[in-house]
Amino acid sequence: MNQRVGIGYDIHRLIKGRKLFLGGVKIPHASGLIGHSDADALLHAVCDALLGAAGAGDIGEHFPDTDVRYKDISSIALLRAVGRIIKAKGCRINNIDSIVILEEPKLKNYKRAMEEAISAALGIKAGQVAVKAKTNEGCGAIGEKKAIACYAVAMLTKKVSK
Ligand code: MG
Repeated sequence: MNQRVGIGYDIHRLIKGRKLFLGGVKIPHASGLIGHSDADALLHAVCDALLGAAGAGDIGEHFPDTDVRYKDISSIALLRAVGRIIKAKGCRINNIDSIVILEEPKLKNYKRAMEEAISAALGIKAGQVAVKAKTNEGCGAIGEKKAIACYAVAMLTKKVSK
């Protein structure tokens, strides 16, 4: 068995009138993230952390944004698929940690639901997933409420092939 770590990052622009999805949870807000899929930046960062730890490429390789099959797709479906990919690579998840960087809305009442949605999609316990939120202290595009960025790390255990 060997331990493997992976990192993921994503950023999407905010636009008025679009639904906001983060961590697989629909959050009431005046604006939402723009993207080919539902633009759930947190799930995209988590997918890349898992793929990176498994040595299985990145989200763009597996689900290209030029492919009509992924237009407006729920990113929970992408996360489930990533769960299958890393399992096929002989990996199991120890834990996932993440940060959402945004000025608004406050995520206090949604973080537990996000942890549950992520863990349910991957078939792990909610205690194996952490979602944290921070503001960008008003700096840059995130501070100006033009974008939301997310970071994630994943720790996996991989079976060593004999
Ligand atoms: Mg993305």
